[in-house]
Amino acid sequence: MTDLIIVGAGPAGLTAAIYGRRASKSVLVLEKAAYGGQIINTPSVENYPAEPQISGIDLATKMYQQATALGAEIRFEQVTAVREAGAFKEVVTPKGAYPCKAVILATGCENRKLGVADEEKLIGRGVSYCATCDGAFYRGKAVAVVGGGNTALEDALYLADLAETVYLIHRRDAFRGDAATVAQLKARENVKILYHSTVTRLCAERRLTGIEVTDTAGCVTELAVSGLFVAVGRVPNTDAFAPVVDLSEDGYAAAGENCRTRTAGIFAAGDNRAKGVRQLVTATADGAVAATEAVRYLNSL
Ligand code: NAP
Repeated sequence: MTDLIIVGAGPAGLTAAIYGRRASKSVLVLEKAAYGGQIINTPSVENYPAEPQISGIDLATKMYQQATALGAEIRFEQVTAVREAGAFKEVVTPKGAYPCKAVILATGCENRKLGVADEEKLIGRGVSYCATCDGAFYRGKAVAVVGGGNTALEDALYLADLAETVYLIHRRDAFRGDAATVAQLKARENVKILYHSTVTRLCAERRLTGIEVTDTAGCVTELAVSGLFVAVGRVPNTDAFAPVVDLSEDGYAAAGENCRTRTAGIFAAGDNRAKGVRQLVTATADGAVAATEAVRYLNSL
């Protein structure tokens, strides 16, 4: 029987593991992919106190090493359910059900998909959700970016330095992202902005060869692009926890600043929690709060 199981080894989960171990609780972290969460795709983190400039993977590795050095166990298994089992909890993975006394859900968010046919099949073959990871493959080529938030704007600007042409496709004519970045994009000769438009079809042989774009007037255009960068926001990884946690309309875990969910002993921390500011530093703050609350809960059993 583990005291505390943490689902997710991103900044929130690893911080919770550090706090849990420092309170002498047994801690198991279950992670479906790689440790580090979203920051491992960030080449340079420049807003984390005491680290003026560090790569996302190096920062994540420091957190991972700190948690494991303190005795947190980390296993790479995908959690498919969390359930109550009498006074305790069970955390379910394809390998079995782990019994524990308290759970912290630190599962973060994942990229929202466009929902167009063959999108998932073409990931890595023209479709990408990370311009800084994959942009270099499209040097000198034509690419498209979809979205109207800061991520799409910054991706388009980044790609404008590499690609021959960047089409920025937005479904409205007003951007959510910063006006200053929009102005920078408009000044670039190789950036073409398509307003009131959505991607309606992906053209591919083995790889992406083009996209079909439809505007709100119904006009269809085919663009020859070899890369499509999708930047239409993120969705929280919370579906598996709906039986034990209330979710907001857009799927975020309902938990207050103390990270407590509606189920005693189950806490939510990091970007999957309904809150105002989702930053690295607020994710680690959540990890500390959730673990402190979990320790309080464990000590009351
Ligand atoms: P976002 O701000 O939620 O923007 C998502 C964009 O995608 C919106 O323009 C939305 O259109 C569009 N969209 C959503 N679903 C779509 C669909 N199915 N088809 C086509 N378009 C769709 O997401 P984000 O850009 O990833 O940013 C997330 C947060 O991180 C924001 O708060 C952002 O400011 C922040 N951020 C900050 C920085 C920075 O400060 N440097 C950098 C990156 C991100 P509508 O506008 O029509 O809804």
